[in-house]
Amino acid sequence: MTKTRKSIPQKTKALLQQEINSQCPICDDSNVDHFEIHHIDENPENNASENLLMICPICHSKITKGDISEEEVRQIKNYLTLKAKGKANAKSSNTINIKGNVANSTVANSISAQTIVYKSRSKPKMEFADGAIGKKAELKNYIKHLIDRYNEYKEGDVGKSKMNYAAIWGIIKKEFKASAYQIPETQFESLCLFLQKRIDNTKQGRINKGKGHKNYSGFDDIYG
Ligand SMILES: [Zn+2]
Repeated sequence: MTKTRKSIPQKTKALLQQEINSQCPICDDSNVDHFEIHHIDENPENNASENLLMICPICHSKITKGDISEEEVRQIKNYLTLKAKGKANAKSSNTINIKGNVANSTVANSISAQTIVYKSRSKPKMEFADGAIGKKAELKNYIKHLIDRYNEYKEGDVGKSKMNYAAIWGIIKKEFKASAYQIPETQFESLCLFLQKRIDNTKQGRINKGKGHKNYSGFDDIYG
């Protein structure tokens, strides 16, 4: 089942940017040129404006990883929609909680001059299935190590402005039919090989290999 990613019209993009007042609604980042558009229901075909939220790439990757839940994203979208309709007054005393490990962030309410505070908790609450990679810290950390290395080298290939840090999480999900940390421990080795191959295939990865340098530490080097 392949889903086509339809391009989003410029007009919609402009409205989405206006909706967030050119600031990431989660972390306040204002480097809007790099912002990405998130499909709230994860269906890339659904370009209805109520399904779209413009956010910074870092927060986008947190959503893709599950550090920020779909429910939380919907709360933010609802808030922005209400605000745009001028009905935010009634809601402005509510606090929207974001579980993700995001910096304290505020969204100014231009109507009531009140502020909604996104409370962050230091540790996101993540539920992993029994036997999932996420249940074991050393497995999870090693996967994180490979993903970080991949993103570091990939960024070198495509350039910071074109880099999509969330993409790798989507690629893993597509290949393994589960989010990285929800993949069963029995597939840990396949996931490692999958990521290691991708790292080795980046420009930096090939250069290092050619010089006989390691592109990443082995699992046993760290935990063995
Ligand atoms: Zn952000």
